[in-house]
Amino acid sequence: MLNPEEYSDLRERMQSLDDGGLMRVVLLFQDEYKPEAISIAKEELRRRGLEGVTLEQLIEQTPEEYYNFVPDFCPGCIAETTDKSVGKLFHFYNIGFYLIGDGSECDICGSIIQRIWFLIFIPIYPGSKYRVKYLEPGFFHGKFVSRRLK
Ligand SMILES: [Zn+2]
Repeated sequence: MLNPEEYSDLRERMQSLDDGGLMRVVLLFQDEYKPEAISIAKEELRRRGLEGVTLEQLIEQTPEEYYNFVPDFCPGCIAETTDKSVGKLFHFYNIGFYLIGDGSECDICGSIIQRIWFLIFIPIYPGSKYRVKYLEPGFFHGKFVSRRLK
């Protein structure tokens, strides 16, 4: 149980979130918040007339807010790629396989286009191109998801 002071701190913190932030708390990160935080967030959404908001609505209203926080690609990026991911990149001190490049950043899901290269200190051999999405530091530090371009 929270004491009254903790509760009012929590309440203030939740109320200071924008709509997208509140929706994220309620829809995406339920497990990471205390039950009190979830009910305050729900109450605040109700107050703002956003009661019963669904994940689909969150994605539709603020796609960046959604895609910034999940390891998903947007439908546009999925359409131009295949399910094939880069997999594990074996490398050591600039020898091995690396993803290089930062082309065509997607406005919606934030993925970029990179090519896989075999390096021996400098790029030697080019491989396929991928859409790569680097995941929010803190949540999944240093990790990425990828899909090969068609
Ligand atoms: Zn995208």
